[in-house]
Amino acid sequence: MTHELHTDVVVIGAGTSGCYLAWRLGQAGLRTIILEKQRLDQVGQDIDIFHMDEVRFDEFGLAHPSGDELTGHHATGLAWSPDRQVQNEVRYAFYVMNKPAFCRRMHRLAREAGAKILEQVRVTEPIIENGFVVGVRAEPVAPDGEPIQVRGQIVVDASGIDGVIRTQLPVELGVETDPIRPEDTLYVCLEFRDDLPAGTPTGLNFYPFHKAFWNPSYGTGAILGIGQPGSYDHAWQKHGEWREEYFGDPGRVIQTRQGRTPYRRSPYSLVGNGFMALGDTAFQTKPFSGEGVTSSFTAGQIAAEVAVEALQRGDVSRAALWPYNVRYFRGQGAKFASMFVQLPAAAELSRREVDYLFYHDLIFSGEDFRQMNLYYETKMSLGQTISMGLKLLAGVLTGGFSFASFQRLLAVSSAAAKIKALYQRFPEDPAGFDAWVVEAERLWGQA
Ligand SMILES: Cc1cc2nc3c(=O)[nH]c(=O)nc-3n(C[C@H](O)[C@H](O)[C@H](O)COP(=O)(O)OP(=O)(O)OC[C@H]3O[C@@H](n4cnc5c(N)ncnc54)[C@H](O)[C@@H]3O)c2cc1C
Repeated sequence: MTHELHTDVVVIGAGTSGCYLAWRLGQAGLRTIILEKQRLDQVGQDIDIFHMDEVRFDEFGLAHPSGDELTGHHATGLAWSPDRQVQNEVRYAFYVMNKPAFCRRMHRLAREAGAKILEQVRVTEPIIENGFVVGVRAEPVAPDGEPIQVRGQIVVDASGIDGVIRTQLPVELGVETDPIRPEDTLYVCLEFRDDLPAGTPTGLNFYPFHKAFWNPSYGTGAILGIGQPGSYDHAWQKHGEWREEYFGDPGRVIQTRQGRTPYRRSPYSLVGNGFMALGDTAFQTKPFSGEGVTSSFTAGQIAAEVAVEALQRGDVSRAALWPYNVRYFRGQGAKFASMFVQLPAAAELSRREVDYLFYHDLIFSGEDFRQMNLYYETKMSLGQTISMGLKLLAGVLTGGFSFASFQRLLAVSSAAAKIKALYQRFPEDPAGFDAWVVEAERLWGQA
């Protein structure tokens, strides 16, 4: 027997993005049902420890962490050159936090605002009627559960990187449905180590050449982590190479964790009739770190406001939900798109070139990292741009930097500016969308 439930908004996934959205919707008086395939006490356990920018708590109306959520607070971090001769101080504060405990807080907030959370329920497919997503079908994970259908006026896919609903939508809905590819995925591998010898790093440490980090864990322990595309095997291999080269085999490994985070542009449209995509499902992770908790709050805040307005007007069509696209892509989305064009070029520089940039405070300076975290872009005056060009040219002349890389950086910086400008002109309504996508495809193709 299949039970049928009805609500205003159905949210798939009780991760941070789905719960944040449900909390906001509940505060606005909407009824929400969240469906989660795991037991709620398991949500977040796959990652265990994570980081959140201190500054974002006030921005998103959340109390700062304390108690079992809080593992540490770090006002600054270090960015290391590949030869480890330069350590740039990044003045940007992060909390180191326990993810299951933070997820429990998000579940509580959503429930206090009126959301219902059903755990151990695996959503299997969307229900489509008359060209609209009107609900989802789900099956129980626990042996004594029953299949259910949950119907709502809007269905939000916040199910994480695999996007269980997004990838099953009919093409006519106008949302790209292709699953994420391994080359567009960061495989994040974490090694928790204890009993570390004196002389090993403390605090937050980032090694951009290796896309690796040495961050605090519980007590005096550390997490040695890396994010690499392609596969877990590849990422663990790179992890081992980096660790061996820099630190050998310090202390002892107490546990390892691994997970995937998207590393690609968002689908061109995040909405269809009765549908919205949010969080990792919508590839809203930060291009410079792969982190996605607070960047999905930006999107969740917009999505909630748009959904409330649409439901008040009784219109949940693609056109009515379109402002989510417009506001997201003209803001954070434009900056992320620009970074997705530029950062791969920086990631492909040779070890010597990255050292050169560190030595000359270019691209990898502490202030660059601070601005990237805070504004999702670096702001440069004309004078600073000219000075950077001259330093790079000097690098080419003295052999610290190849001419090919110099040309590539110039090319991607111009392509990034064009992509950003295009996203800032994201069409006001669906009528202009097809022409916009043609131009977007052309620019991404060039980039
Ligand atoms: C190892 C690792 C470390 C990271 N560290 C950080 C960090 O320090 N800071 C940061 O900001 N970001 C970090 N990230 C990225 C961050 O975890 C994600 O961007 C963020 O969790 C995305 O939130 P979400 O709610 O969109 O998706 P998720 O957290 O993936 O939540 C989706 C939820 O949907 C549920 N679900 C999936 N399919 C179904 C289904 N069919 N039916 C019902 N439920 C379903 C899942 O069980 C899950 O609970 C890290 C990622 C990894 C892999």
